[in-house]
Amino acid sequence: DAVVHWFKMDLRTYDNRALSMASRKAAEAGVPLICVYLVSPEDFTAHLRAPVRVDFMMRTLAVLKKDLAALDVPLHVETVGKRKDIPQRMLALMASHLFANMEYEVDELRREAKMHGMSMEVLHDSCIVPPGLLASGSGKQYSVYSPWFRAWVAYLHSHMDLLLDVFDPPTKNPASVRKGKHSTIFDSEIPDVPKNKALSTEEKKRFHALWPAGEHEAIDRLNKFVEERISRYSERRNFPGDACTSSISVHLAAGTLSARTAVRAARDKNKGKNLDAGAEGIKTWISEVAWRDFYKHVLVHWPYICMNKPFKPEYSNIEWSYDMEHFQAWKDGRTGFPIVDAAMRQCKATGWMHNRCRMIVASFLCKDLLIDWRLGERYFMETLIDGDFASNNGGWGFSASCGVDPQPYFRIFNPLLQSEKFDPQGEYIRKWIPELKGVQGAAIHDPYGRTGGLSKSAAGKEGAYPQRILVAVQEKRQ
Ligand code: FAD
Repeated sequence: DAVVHWFKMDLRTYDNRALSMASRKAAEAGVPLICVYLVSPEDFTAHLRAPVRVDFMMRTLAVLKKDLAALDVPLHVETVGKRKDIPQRMLALMASHLFANMEYEVDELRREAKMHGMSMEVLHDSCIVPPGLLASGSGKQYSVYSPWFRAWVAYLHSHMDLLLDVFDPPTKNPASVRKGKHSTIFDSEIPDVPKNKALSTEEKKRFHALWPAGEHEAIDRLNKFVEERISRYSERRNFPGDACTSSISVHLAAGTLSARTAVRAARDKNKGKNLDAGAEGIKTWISEVAWRDFYKHVLVHWPYICMNKPFKPEYSNIEWSYDMEHFQAWKDGRTGFPIVDAAMRQCKATGWMHNRCRMIVASFLCKDLLIDWRLGERYFMETLIDGDFASNNGGWGFSASCGVDPQPYFRIFNPLLQSEKFDPQGEYIRKWIPELKGVQGAAIHDPYGRTGGLSKSAAGKEGAYPQRILVAVQEKRQ
């Protein structure tokens, strides 16, 4: 007597494939559409969801509930104690037909496999080109980005509906739903953030100001970026002090924005309509959004990467360091390498880090400190508001040289040269490291090493910027 849409990482009404189909099915059958979101504290723990991310999702649910209520569609949000009970609970809640968008991680696929017997449709939505459609000439899944990207573009150019078809928001339920057996859902409260992921009052204040929740905010952010910054993207995207990237990763991760909508907005702004031509900034940005699809395709084809294994099995037996003092210094932004420390402090303070810096700190952790990349991968998931398994695992595999399409193992970022190149004036460093505010000129990149910087005798003092935790980092590196 109702069609159910099960929200997961697709917390929006606009351009949401399964939600749109559910609405259509409900209208055809003359039954109401009901929406459900199940909060699983166990899943949050198992999947290392950052508190800032959980908080963002709960705030988004409140926006979503209001938007859906305007269409007389109730959103039922419920906490389920044991994750293994989710399929059962879904079954109990479900009426005649269930719709959901697919999540590709192994646990999620297993959960859905347990729901056999239900009348259920699980649809591809999160990638622009669904996984499984692109293969090399010999029929294999690509493990290198460039040929994959060419295939991605060619596929879309011949199947533009995948990009251009917009899935309409749900239509209005009959107003009588407000009086029927689902009526109490309209008044139900969104549960509090589970205790294991609660933020402090100070954190709430800081993160809420930085990351307003919900799909309207996502669209605003996207439109602003496309209007104001995308044209500079290819030249400036690597400079963390510039804030020139879109910062929509939070929305793509929570599903408050679809990747289709993002690429459509960029394409509409382009001179031609091809995805790999036209304005430099636009085509570069589209190719970056495509990385997200790439890593999800990789996850679907090689699911063992979900199990703490490197993509390249030959790198399984590396003897990594587990020096917890070094690891803690890295997490705290106290390694004595300013660009690394600025980035790690940005991460902790905002729940987000610039892509260039993600590469620098990842390289530093696994190629200078020689610490197991999986510790870094884990810390990112526990801290980032945009933590996404496939992109995060891909980024760490790239940096540690054991992932798909990685940097060669002998390519190691020199934090000093990276700093000089991508934060030449040291603005980014000064923003995040107050101890270095007064350091002028090039000394900002190496404050204890060059003239004009800090005196070494100051290093041990309370509140002073730390000395390098590693003495030698080869100067010759790029
Ligand atoms: P923009 O430059 O504006 O790019 C637009 C969108 O394209 C991004 O929002 C993102 O969805 C996608 N994108 C861009 N670059 C990449 C990339 N290299 N890989 C995958 N997708 C990309 N991204 C996440 O969304 N979640 C993560 O957990 C994550 N962890 C990372 C870990 C490491 C070690 C590295 C090197 C990269 C990681 N990335 C991750 C990719 C990238 O750093 C972020 O997507 C990007 O910084 C987000 O900022 P933005 O939205 O301003 O990006």
